[in-house]
Amino acid sequence: MTTTRRSLLFGAGAFAGLAAANSAWADAPALVHGVVVSPASAGARVTLALSQQAQARTFFLSAPDRFVIDIAQSRLALPPGASEGPGAGFVQRYRYAQQADGVSRVVLDLMVPARLVRQDLGGRRAPELSFDLAPTAPVAAAPVRQEFRPSGRQRTIVVDAGHGGRDPGAIGATGTREKDVVLDAALQLRRALESRGYRVALTRNDDTFVPLEDRVRFARSHNADLFISIHADSHANPEAQGASVYTLSERGADRAQNMAQNWNIDFGDTPRQGVTRDILLDLYQRETTNRSSQFAQTLIPCLSQVSPLLRNTHRNAGFFVLLAPDVPAVLIETGFLSNVTDERRLSDPRARQAMAEAMAQAVEAYFAPPQLQASA
Ligand SMILES: [Zn+2]
Repeated sequence: MTTTRRSLLFGAGAFAGLAAANSAWADAPALVHGVVVSPASAGARVTLALSQQAQARTFFLSAPDRFVIDIAQSRLALPPGASEGPGAGFVQRYRYAQQADGVSRVVLDLMVPARLVRQDLGGRRAPELSFDLAPTAPVAAAPVRQEFRPSGRQRTIVVDAGHGGRDPGAIGATGTREKDVVLDAALQLRRALESRGYRVALTRNDDTFVPLEDRVRFARSHNADLFISIHADSHANPEAQGASVYTLSERGADRAQNMAQNWNIDFGDTPRQGVTRDILLDLYQRETTNRSSQFAQTLIPCLSQVSPLLRNTHRNAGFFVLLAPDVPAVLIETGFLSNVTDERRLSDPRARQAMAEAMAQAVEAYFAPPQLQASA
């Protein structure tokens, strides 16, 4: 094994950079709960879920091309009986092994040489490591990603108009009701998506009240590839203006995991309870959260073409409708009914149609095969 590019050492020593989470736990090894490789705009992203902060180093190896992540003072708590998992983009697969010196090693097998373009070493609240790799040579063919679901079939999008019936949602300064404008936006979005060949299911298509849990259940029962919940906001400050996009927060993810026993997720032969199931659920959850964020990142520039955006447009929250562990989900606040300009915009059917078109474009971009023809 020859080290071609020692891309990165965190700090000066072999292992440096992250302080121990806190002194009481400094000696306990960090557990590596999950590894997820997902497509990223650069090429591919690998995320490692840890039980606590840990020190790590990374380097590349060549012939064959690999990316190595060593995590000091840690223990692999990954599914037993396996030593590898699926890749994405130009990452063929990942492999893992416990080293003798308390180091957990995760190796990505790469189709082409790559470089590290982003690293996120997490924090105490979210002790995870995340690295983005970009290919430095053309990738021959668009690689096929191993999916949780069979690919090549018609995609199903569940569109969720917020509120309804006895729950009007936000009410605008001139009386505009959230439940009405978001229903129309949802119907417009259905039209825009169906014209692009997607299968669309609406959680409500008229002015009826639908409990939140039923909306999530509905998305899961339709095997939705994407869940889009449409809302309009309200704020005490009438100046607050613009659209924003929410995906599941860290705290929300914990809540989702606590609820997951109820979701009846099919993990094959895995027992319905226990550590292995928890780890798998963790993987599903992280993969889903990654995908939700990817869609949000695709959506925001599309929305910005047709609507003002709130500052920090991509936000995290624990909204109930975002909690399905296996359906990527976003909640779009299309604007503030408490703001005069936004209320006028949201009351305008043409403006709503423009927003629906922008959302549909984002859906199309999100499902488009990744463009991995990197310049050499
Ligand atoms: Zn709402």
